[in-house]
Amino acid sequence: MFSLIYQHTEGLCGKCLKQVVVRRQKLRFWPNLILAVATVGIWGIFWYKNAKTLDRQWRCTKCGTEVFRLVEYRF
Ligand SMILES: [Zn+2]
Repeated sequence: MFSLIYQHTEGLCGKCLKQVVVRRQKLRFWPNLILAVATVGIWGIFWYKNAKTLDRQWRCTKCGTEVFRLVEYRF
């Protein structure tokens, strides 16, 4: 999707059992805002739901398992 970017950080993978680079997808702000305006706010609902789901999904770049324990928290 055109509106996605990736964020990387360090995390502890439960499958690799070591510190790995984890990645999550992040929604770009401007393309989504333009879509929300263009669809009279309808896209805003999907945007909000997607952003909430994606923000919690850090994945190990080695095995793809969802990682919950991050070494460094970034907000
Ligand atoms: Zn892993």
